[in-house]
Amino acid sequence: MEYKYLNDKNLKFLKRFLSTYSHSGYEMEAASVWREYVSQFVPAKTDVLCNTVGVINPDAEFKIMLCGHLDEIGLQVMYISAEGLVYFRKLGGIDALTVPGTEVMILTRKGRIPGVIGKKPIHLQSASDRQKAVELDDLWVDIGVETKEEAEALVSIGDPIAVKENCLFMGENRIMSKALDDKIGAFIVAEVLRVLSSEPIKVGVYGVASSQEEVGCRGAVTSSYSINPQVGFCLDVGFATDIPGIEKKKYGEMALGGGAVIRHSADNNVLLVRLLQDVAAEKEIKVQNVANGSATGGTDTCKIQLAQSGVATALLSIPNRYMHTPVEVCDLRDVDEIIALLVEAIKKIDAEKVFNFVPERVSYPF
Ligand SMILES: [Zn+2]
Repeated sequence: MEYKYLNDKNLKFLKRFLSTYSHSGYEMEAASVWREYVSQFVPAKTDVLCNTVGVINPDAEFKIMLCGHLDEIGLQVMYISAEGLVYFRKLGGIDALTVPGTEVMILTRKGRIPGVIGKKPIHLQSASDRQKAVELDDLWVDIGVETKEEAEALVSIGDPIAVKENCLFMGENRIMSKALDDKIGAFIVAEVLRVLSSEPIKVGVYGVASSQEEVGCRGAVTSSYSINPQVGFCLDVGFATDIPGIEKKKYGEMALGGGAVIRHSADNNVLLVRLLQDVAAEKEIKVQNVANGSATGGTDTCKIQLAQSGVATALLSIPNRYMHTPVEVCDLRDVDEIIALLVEAIKKIDAEKVFNFVPERVSYPF
């Protein structure tokens, strides 16, 4: 498959980035891999919350922020039993049904400890057990030891537990991995910085790999406050509705391979959305228009929009199947189209000085 922007080199980086572990509040490893990659093209640094920012034209007055979160969902050690079994709770909104039978890595001060998530065999479950929804406190991590003392020599209370790295390229264009939500968004941010770093643009571009999105979009709050941009583009995965059992009248139509997804809700500045639609038409970039499932919220977009005195924001979604499970799937053609759309939109804003996204002189029809 021929892509406009994706190639063996950046897909190799994507695989490496997806293989890092980055629970909310513990994003250091992913932040350093992302920073090291982006630093080849632009200056980049990580702040106290692990937000990692690469900048083009830091002295420019007009600032465009790009944001994709690099934290991932996981689990965290709560308790170690006498038999040396490790109990946990959620760290972010993991789908409990997909947790049993998962291979994991416990991230300790001394290194990674491998384990598996065990449960009572189905044969020994009562009829009422089988009816019941999976509860995380009925599960544990087995790290292959026999006693609490042995377990405690390896693992400590509070250690994060991650789904083991599992990135796989499938078929012609598909990629499967844990944590595509939202390392694929942070990857797009890195690629837009790479492409624009060799373009003669004048606007400031702040590419942010944000932290703590999965626990309340917290990194986006502080990074957008600090950058104080006029425009913000957020990149995050969206629910693909091209699988059985999803009501399109409720969630809209979004397909893997259908192109960049332009979202519509109160989080999305209407003039910025129109600009994206016009750029897509002009440059023949494949897009899907999808209204958000709720009128506001759910991604970093709403936090960036409310930074300081307000920001013109737009959310671009990467269609994603099986969100918040260990086997999320995206389509690389969509990733390629989103990079193209952002590159062209930023170049248009820069060239035409389309700097006023305040709709004061705009009336219906807009
Ligand atoms: Zn996300």
